[in-house]
Amino acid sequence: MHSRAPAPLKALVEQLARLPGMGPKSALRAAMALLKWPESETRRLGSGIYDLRDALHLCSRCGGLTAEDPCAICADAARARDILCLVTEWDSMLTLDEGGFYHGQFMILGGLLEPLARKGSEALETERLVRRLAEGEVKELVLALGATLEAENTASFIRRMLSERFPHLKISRLAQGIPLGAEVKYMDKETLRQSLQYRQELA
Ligand SMILES: [Zn+2]
Repeated sequence: MHSRAPAPLKALVEQLARLPGMGPKSALRAAMALLKWPESETRRLGSGIYDLRDALHLCSRCGGLTAEDPCAICADAARARDILCLVTEWDSMLTLDEGGFYHGQFMILGGLLEPLARKGSEALETERLVRRLAEGEVKELVLALGATLEAENTASFIRRMLSERFPHLKISRLAQGIPLGAEVKYMDKETLRQSLQYRQELA
């Protein structure tokens, strides 16, 4: 950015450039576009960002984003309480829920093991999972982590971690009709419904 650019503009561009998919150039373009917006619109955007932290937090049950704790899915008394579906991220949970064919509980793992990126089990929400299982309500855990190599490794890790502590817990995973490399959040509804219906128990 030009050294003579006004300081407030520089500061904004620096902040915007930290967003995913943004670099310094696109951040500058975005900042210039914002300057052309009507003042009410820029104020609305600003207060929207400001309110984000106050209005949203993580659900203490599933780890999803929510305005109220527990979230609407966890608070829904009509859902089965003996089946828990473990997903990588929040958007996978939404995709599965919007399908309308799964009526159990959810939990978000928060990532996958990625040895090459030095991402180990400390990056995963395993404690929340163990706490939830220790409550004793869940009889089946469905791993819906996707069909990537990282997902496979993570599924094996979860199974090893839980099998001793919860010997009676049934652990299954989505059927392997899923295209290799598929992420749950990008799967179409019918594929997802079938892979859940024909889920396989992990030996
Ligand atoms: Zn929740």
